[in-house]
Amino acid sequence: MRKKQFKAESKKLLDMMINSIYTNREIFIRELISNASDAIDKLYFKSLTDDSVGLNKGDFEIFVDIDKDARTITVTDNGIGMTQEELESNLGTIAKSGSFNFKNDNGEAAPEDIEVIGQFGVGFYSSFMVASKVEVVSKAFGEDTAHKWVSEGADGYTIGECEKDCAGTVITLHIKDDTENDDYSQFLEQYRLSSLIKKYSDYIRYPIKMEMTKSVPDEEKEGEYKEETVVETLNSMIPIWRKNKNELTEDDYNEYYKNKFSDFENPLLHIHSKTEGQATFDALIYIPSRPPFDYYSKEYEKGLQLYTNGVLIMDKCADLVPDYFSFAKGVVDSADLSLNISREMLQQDHRLKIIAKAIDKKIKSELKKLLENDREKYEKFFETFGVQLKWGVYANYGSEKEGLKDLILFKSSKESKYVTLKEYVADMAEGQDTIYYACGENETKISLLPQTEAVTAKGYDVLCFTDDVDEFAIQMLMEYDGKKFANICKDELNLSSEDEKKALDEKNEAAKDMLEEMKGYLNGEVSSVKFTNAIGGHAVCLSAEGYVSLEMAKVLSQMPGGNGGMKAQLVLEINSEHAISEKLFELFAKDKEKLKNYTYLLYNQARLISGLDIDNPTEFADMITQLM
Ligand code: ADP
Ligand code: MG
Repeated sequence: MRKKQFKAESKKLLDMMINSIYTNREIFIRELISNASDAIDKLYFKSLTDDSVGLNKGDFEIFVDIDKDARTITVTDNGIGMTQEELESNLGTIAKSGSFNFKNDNGEAAPEDIEVIGQFGVGFYSSFMVASKVEVVSKAFGEDTAHKWVSEGADGYTIGECEKDCAGTVITLHIKDDTENDDYSQFLEQYRLSSLIKKYSDYIRYPIKMEMTKSVPDEEKEGEYKEETVVETLNSMIPIWRKNKNELTEDDYNEYYKNKFSDFENPLLHIHSKTEGQATFDALIYIPSRPPFDYYSKEYEKGLQLYTNGVLIMDKCADLVPDYFSFAKGVVDSADLSLNISREMLQQDHRLKIIAKAIDKKIKSELKKLLENDREKYEKFFETFGVQLKWGVYANYGSEKEGLKDLILFKSSKESKYVTLKEYVADMAEGQDTIYYACGENETKISLLPQTEAVTAKGYDVLCFTDDVDEFAIQMLMEYDGKKFANICKDELNLSSEDEKKALDEKNEAAKDMLEEMKGYLNGEVSSVKFTNAIGGHAVCLSAEGYVSLEMAKVLSQMPGGNGGMKAQLVLEINSEHAISEKLFELFAKDKEKLKNYTYLLYNQARLISGLDIDNPTEFADMITQLM
């Protein structure tokens, strides 16, 4: 045996990795199994053209053994194996290409180097996270001699000849002793190790076998159990997403979903796609029927499971789905990705970005199809998750609004059903050039607003905005199909003819003094009092001027930290055609005290109609009773 030193860079890298890069020790088994699987792939490939291999597809396997007393885990494969040179160059040196260039000497790599490490994959070295010593016995296919490589970590390794029958590799990890903070013995537990293998390597295409001790009824002793050892195959080997769609039933998809994502209900929708091109990947994505149980909690993490070639590399890869699809569950499997070693590195992988983009597009197009083909189901989806899509329109300064604007629905006040913006525009009355909306707690309250009545009377539909986010989203959208949006409780509506407008302006001008007086009575609560003719048969209504609407002010005031000074500028509007307006003129001339009371009453009525609180309900009620 000759003792050899690792190259300097390798040593540094090894230390660094053991101590910091891998945060998740348990993945060592995934790395070893995936290497074994790669090695088998190579020999299997050879066997297709080379009879001397002497193995059929069914002969290949990976065996995992635990020896609790010796504190070892052994992973055996009958793959291609390694020659002495390969053992030395593959396991003895990480810096194969010389592209490593450590910028500083305190053990930290510069960020660009980290990326390089990610591309290389230092999977084998993850063994040292749990093992104090690693032995690799390997015989390369076609060679007569086998070799044994032994290392106790960063110091170096020894290598020498040894005996081994068939081609393949046996890797033995001598598991570290437990410390106060670290429980290494857990990996020597059958149940623990086998569940890690099931978790990470379920879809490896060769059987992963392990001896499992089971309690079985003892046939000789009635009522007693005995221990029996059986060899079990731990992995299912064929991922459902790799199968063809026509091999799978709705039931298969549903069962897989329920098992995998622990839901009792069938999913609302599944999307199974095979993509080739810029990125090649299989995806199986589900939209749940109801929000995941922890969806509204801080603990909820969005993301899809990410596999590369059947090996799980991340349980919840958040970068694969945008926030507005945070409810989506599923699996992505791409052969293009290398087994990267950390989340941070993966995030920088441009192929991941391409995949994420393709998935986003796919989900959108499937939802669009659902909207077109199964309206009822789409509306159910929208009732559950529509708010997310609307936030998606609003988020990031509207950067995603184009892709989402045709997926959002609003209730129409006219027909009390959901409409898309496209449908609203298609159904617009002749001469209508604006998309009208109103905000409120629910559709009923909105449809009872004086303003709604006035707009509907013109034959125009009003969209009901009942979610906090609605108006924010629409402001981000700005227009749809060239049509501007108008809040009927706030914006200039242009519903009247030129003549009507002129008459109203004149009336307001003539009543200027009275309106100022009334505004004064309200002690700064409103920014103006004016006559209007756009509210049907009702006496008053409240509207807002400027950027902030009533609803936005309500939402903002509920946000943590108050409303940030965003207050709606209220306008008290009085119906110029209502008998009350004559009465007001009369009081202005004869009885200012009563005008003050009337103003107070009208203002509070208007607040109630708009769904706002009033400061002193008792006083308000008393004044009304007095009048009666
Ligand atoms: P990667 O798998 O990304 O190449 P690893 O550190 O996991 O990186 O493995 C380094 C190399 O060692 C592999 O590329 C392979 O050539 C060799 N190797 C590791 N394990 C085995 C094995 N069980 N059989 C044959 N070769 C192996
Ligand atoms: Mg590997």
